[in-house]
Amino acid sequence: MEKAFFETSKMLGDANKIIIPRLSKWMFDNRQITYDEDVMKTILTTLTTPGRDRSGSFASSSAGKCQRAQIYAYLGLDQNPITDINVLNMFNDGHWRHMRLQANLLQAGIIDDIELSLNWEAKRSKGSVDAVGTIPDDHPQVLWRGKQFGLEIKGAASMKASKILMNGPDVYREQVDRYFLSGGFDFFSILVEDRNFLGWTEFVYQADPVRIQKQRDELDDLNWYVDNEVIPDRIPECRNQSGEMWRACPFGGKGGICARTNRWRDAA
Ligand code: SF4
Repeated sequence: MEKAFFETSKMLGDANKIIIPRLSKWMFDNRQITYDEDVMKTILTTLTTPGRDRSGSFASSSAGKCQRAQIYAYLGLDQNPITDINVLNMFNDGHWRHMRLQANLLQAGIIDDIELSLNWEAKRSKGSVDAVGTIPDDHPQVLWRGKQFGLEIKGAASMKASKILMNGPDVYREQVDRYFLSGGFDFFSILVEDRNFLGWTEFVYQADPVRIQKQRDELDDLNWYVDNEVIPDRIPECRNQSGEMWRACPFGGKGGICARTNRWRDAA
């Protein structure tokens, strides 16, 4: 079902996209972009707003990831420090990629707003959608017209971007499913920019009740761990305290909290 939708989506090309056709046309029509003051004010607000404290909530961007890591993040436990300037630079580059695309999309009138908070206190869920908009009345898909969409912007190195182009953006789907659950969108677009060549790939999804239920279940699990003060088990990939996941996780590795703490009272 999922595969079939993806194949159909590829065959339909631009008719199945929300962002790329309009943004491309707008950029050809506006080779020297001048931004309106209200667009810049919106971007300035983003630039000058400190990142939120992620403890005490479950971030939508972590949907589908290791539940033990999500509980550690909920508890606000120390993450392994980043010691590589290239990694810090990559994060900073991603931050500006978002603002460049958000500014252009606002100026082009393709989106209505950016950084929409989707907080769901009863489920301790927090998230912020990169952008929201309304599908225009001249969209080739007649049934899509007038519907609300959310947008997630991603940057990917060329090799990863090529894989996503071939096989779809599975790696980002659970985050989007969480947004469908907490935001009630009709459609969601994932726009991937190749970090090396700056090409775009776009995938548009409709809400899928089965996938949304999986997110509801995951949030229920995470809330159960908090209510019962239980630290979830390590995922199978990390049971031997070795491997790629173990090393890449901000709570993993030899000195990481995952190696040291199994009990809530030691962690909290
Ligand atoms: S190291 Fe592995 S098991 Fe531990 S929190 Fe990270 S992903 Fe989960």
